[in-house]
Amino acid sequence: MLAQLDWRDRMRRRTIIGFAATLAVLASVLPLIGLWGILQRQAENAKQQYVADYASWTAERVGRTLDNAKRALVRAQTIDRMDCSPEHMKQMGQVAADAHSIDDVGYFRDGELVCTRLGKISPPVPAHAADMDLGQGFSLHFAERPILFEGKPRIELRLGDYGVIITPGRFTDLVGYTDMTLGLATAQGHVLELTGPADPQAIKALISGQHFGTDARYGFAARPVAGLVAFALIDKEQAGNAVAVDWRYIMPVSVAISLALIGIIIWISRLQLSPEKTLEQAVRNREFIVQYQPIIELATGRCIAAEALVRWRQKDGRMLPPDQFIPLAEASGLISPLTDLVIEIVTTEMSSLLRGNADLHISINIPARDMESGRFLPVLAAAVAKAGIDPSQIWIEVTESGFMNAPTATQAVETARAAGYRVAIDDFGTGYSSLSRLEGLPLDALKIDKSFVDVIGHDAARSVVTSHIIAMAHELKLAMIAEGVETPEQEASLKNANVQFGQGWLYAKALPAEQFQMFYQSRSGNVPT
Ligand code: C2E
Ligand code: CA
Ligand code: CA
Repeated sequence: MLAQLDWRDRMRRRTIIGFAATLAVLASVLPLIGLWGILQRQAENAKQQYVADYASWTAERVGRTLDNAKRALVRAQTIDRMDCSPEHMKQMGQVAADAHSIDDVGYFRDGELVCTRLGKISPPVPAHAADMDLGQGFSLHFAERPILFEGKPRIELRLGDYGVIITPGRFTDLVGYTDMTLGLATAQGHVLELTGPADPQAIKALISGQHFGTDARYGFAARPVAGLVAFALIDKEQAGNAVAVDWRYIMPVSVAISLALIGIIIWISRLQLSPEKTLEQAVRNREFIVQYQPIIELATGRCIAAEALVRWRQKDGRMLPPDQFIPLAEASGLISPLTDLVIEIVTTEMSSLLRGNADLHISINIPARDMESGRFLPVLAAAVAKAGIDPSQIWIEVTESGFMNAPTATQAVETARAAGYRVAIDDFGTGYSSLSRLEGLPLDALKIDKSFVDVIGHDAARSVVTSHIIAMAHELKLAMIAEGVETPEQEASLKNANVQFGQGWLYAKALPAEQFQMFYQSRSGNVPT
């Protein structure tokens, strides 16, 4: 069945297989790439979070350090001496001792630093102008050189006549960090403190207002604090190992996902490649045509009817005969949509011919399943009404096997006949019908199977059976149509036995609608025999 697939179907199969193969390849690599990507992204996020946390802690630390220094300065305003006397210095020393994070306290007079908690400054050092105004009288002075010791430039916070010195390292001396560079800068990019090496590009970027970022080498985060920017920088190459993707975890998971996907792809493509699917597609695409085999009145040679026979038109123009797809259609349930399609085609193609010739009828093959359910009847009724055809011009052919269940069959035949159709039993003699069973059925005609016509004139013993069948039909008073009439001898013998109608290659094969019309026009009158 469906052995001869045409090129378009082969193309369809090739497309499905190619598509499935492509999907399978994708299914085997995408999960790996996807998982790897997800883990990379997670690692990247974790790294960013790590850097952001440090930036926040640094900002907090800067804020706290400045607050402490401010508190110390507020307290210094309460010192009652202004004379750089030992008592004055002692009070300044007290302020410094009580405050965390300040290294020195200094006293200014007339714009000059005159003494610190450790002693007088002589000569006095002129005060620098403020680098940054923190509001409420506080100002920041960067790059103050240590006066009493050598060392890194310091930062000074000033209020009124007093200033406190902060070693910049205090802003960044967090506990427990290893591979991070922490820093503090002004919003203009002046770096006040940096704990390690840092990419100047990254520092530029973060100071220009970017609060998060990453480039090939560095990841950074910045947090604003008191008009300054606290930041953390990480060298990704150094930190990379800590967040490396764990292949031992990824591999089995991605292999499992791939196998599941490939299984699904194979399952779906096998469904798509199945003969059922091919046939279903064909029914949906209406790839079927109907041909009409003339039925001849033996006494006159007139054409009085035709049997509608379906063919599956292949895209290369070949016609696939029904034996090659009807069994599959019946087994898969596609026979019902196919019946509907045949009904539609016949009533459309034959409507004018039937309307113009009231004594012409067309036989349609109805499968047992549809006959039993009667499902096709409303479909047929609608099609016949739409085409303006008299129901009596539609004959229904049902095989004997359709009548295995006698009560249902009787009911079905009665319903069809009540609607005006005629009913013929097909392939008569090949099934199990006994005369007694047929007697109860309200049939109109019998079609004698071709196998009984074949033996006429060849096999004397089996010709007896044919005679018997013919006699049986006469007894039931049913019209008879002999199928498969191929020779004039068979025709003569059938005429002799009073068989009224014949169908076979002696007269014509099944013809396309137009050719049948022409055949009918030429054979609808008496034909000399
Ligand atoms: P069937 O209903 O017995 O149809 C008669 C078959 O005998 C047709 O074969 C016809 O072409 C063939 N035939 C007619 N005269 C001769 C002859 O002189 N010599 C030979 N050797 N063969 C002849 P086809 O068209 O291949 O149909 C085969 C079967 O397919 C049909 O048998 C019928 O059972 C089924 N079928 C055809 N069309 C339909 C349809 O529309 N619906 C359903 N359900 N079944 C159909
Ligand atoms: Ca038939
Ligand atoms: Ca038949």
